[in-house]
Amino acid sequence: MLRIEGLTAEVDGKPILKGIDLEVPTGEVHAIMGPNGSGKSTLSYVLAGREGYEVTGGSATLNGVDLLALEPEERAAAGVFLAFQYPVELPGVGNANFLRTALNAIRRGKGEAELDAMQFLKLARARLKELQMSEDMLKRGVNVGFSGGEKKRNEVLQMALLRPSLAILDETDSGLDIDALKIVADGVNALRAPDFAALVITHYQRLLDYIVPDKVHVLMQGRIVQTGGPELAKQLEASGYASVQAAA
Ligand code: ADP
Ligand code: MG
Ligand code: MG
Repeated sequence: MLRIEGLTAEVDGKPILKGIDLEVPTGEVHAIMGPNGSGKSTLSYVLAGREGYEVTGGSATLNGVDLLALEPEERAAAGVFLAFQYPVELPGVGNANFLRTALNAIRRGKGEAELDAMQFLKLARARLKELQMSEDMLKRGVNVGFSGGEKKRNEVLQMALLRPSLAILDETDSGLDIDALKIVADGVNALRAPDFAALVITHYQRLLDYIVPDKVHVLMQGRIVQTGGPELAKQLEASGYASVQAAA
């Protein structure tokens, strides 16, 4: 499970996370909601170990492993997957090679044998089939000319190949249409398993119509101010964050 205790972090000397306590048991999907600027993306960057996001206190462990002590690549090998809000385009790099490199880096980190091109192709085809995706996905340049939905599909494929213990999905506040959100939701739902957990970060309630979370946490001004079931997301949609602020 993911266990975060008293986590504080700053960016450019400015405190952003002001004491986050959060537990996501394995097998569960939790949502983090909150207004713009509340620190949602900062939390995901801190968990992924992004440069410039300085942890000033507290702890974050995944299945007992201290994530904050690890380099970003080591966190991936420890089972953390972070979907980027804005996926990179890598012209000239074939998507199959890109995905195989990412998978093999994690396998090396776990002390597992790397997959050669044929072994990878076999695995990728099996995952594509499970996700009902086309094999064309493997032939293109990484994200080059991909529509928003195709980028999301690729992200879900990557997640399915890497099979993380914890997926952190920070869905950007803008630019994602409902079809793209559905692709993410279908992917998370397909991966739901006793040894998989997801933290879905979203500004919008509508994503949670498709991924029904076990718990919803509301993040405001760097703190989790309320936790509830899926109904909390509906309530927020109806009455907005101001009602939470008043109650907190
Ligand atoms: P959210 O994802 O909830 O919209 P963010 O984590 O992006 O919130 O931002 C939280 C706060 O941290 C905001 O006040 C934002 O201006 C600030 N912040 C985030 N990233 C940076 C950065 N790289 N440099 C300076 N300030 C930042
Ligand atoms: Mg934002
Ligand atoms: Mg954000």
